[in-house]
Amino acid sequence: MPNPQNDLLLLVRTMMGLSKMVKIDFREFFGKEPLLILKPEDIGHSAREFISVYGSYMHDVAFVAKRANGYATYSSRTAPVEPDYTEMFEEWITLLGKLKIRSAVTMDFYTDKWFARDPKYQTISAKGLPVEYQVCPNREDFWEYGAEIVKELGSYPINEIVVFGTGFIQDRFCFCDRCKDEFAPSIGQEPHRLTYEYLVENPEQHEAWHQWRVEKVNQGISYLQAAARETDDLVDREEPLKLTIEMPIDPQKGFTEGARTENGLDHSKILEMTGSILINLYPWTPLLPRPGTKDYDDLLEALYFVKEFKRRGGNVTLFRWGMNVPDRVDELRRIAKDADIDRIALTFHFPEDYAARRESVLGSA
Ligand SMILES: [Zn+2]
Repeated sequence: MPNPQNDLLLLVRTMMGLSKMVKIDFREFFGKEPLLILKPEDIGHSAREFISVYGSYMHDVAFVAKRANGYATYSSRTAPVEPDYTEMFEEWITLLGKLKIRSAVTMDFYTDKWFARDPKYQTISAKGLPVEYQVCPNREDFWEYGAEIVKELGSYPINEIVVFGTGFIQDRFCFCDRCKDEFAPSIGQEPHRLTYEYLVENPEQHEAWHQWRVEKVNQGISYLQAAARETDDLVDREEPLKLTIEMPIDPQKGFTEGARTENGLDHSKILEMTGSILINLYPWTPLLPRPGTKDYDDLLEALYFVKEFKRRGGNVTLFRWGMNVPDRVDELRRIAKDADIDRIALTFHFPEDYAARRESVLGSA
């Protein structure tokens, strides 16, 4: 029997393999004016050399400052550091500042493999299995850790921090002791009796679960936002440092409503806090829908909230990872245009551990 899940996975693996092989034509990508999110490895061995070749084409770029492996590429005093790239980071930020090119950095938040090695911080699935690359979003000391990183990054003359990995993996998380002990009493349940099956069988309690997780995610974001505001007095910026929060939208995970119920990401709350979201489009689904199909219409309907978000002063960016073929950027731009989104963003590569992450997002963990 053919299994569509396996076919998809095969396609994903093929795409990931290709992303390692394809030689990137930067000029062509810059010409399409996305926010180009670059790893230090994309830039090569010298920021100066890269900028001297491409500087005149660049207008919106981001440097990966803290990776999903937990390591910083700048000289952090808080996170573990990859020393090979700290000089490049400094040079990159300084040169962009001189050329007055808008400058962003990215950081992974709960997707932190270094921190998640510690069983005290790992997020736990409904089946009681720890996930070794992701931190439980219900840890005040980890919010403080994230806030320190925002402060460090905000002390550089940058305009924006794009924050990835901002929510729960999916609805079946987090069942760590801390989360169970805190949530179960709020619905009159014993912590050791709290199971995912129980939540699914009790819609009212299930909705309380969703609400509780949204509040946790919001608390985490509010720590980062407060840290960003603190840095505004330290650095001369035309506008306050912007925090852009990743929100996955995937047809396999219920689109926008799924972002709330699965990940705890409620766009109206994010609007109130940071005013800026990055929609991670189809992160777990390999092919984007074609215009004129029902899938395309479903996607546009799911993106309808963007109009209201923008009307209330919010900024929206449409992002896709693993975009190493320029034609695919046109596809993304088309969807953005139809959904009334002005800015697109991309990475050339898939995240580290993509296959494992996809499995815990889509599986019955
Ligand atoms: Zn937890």
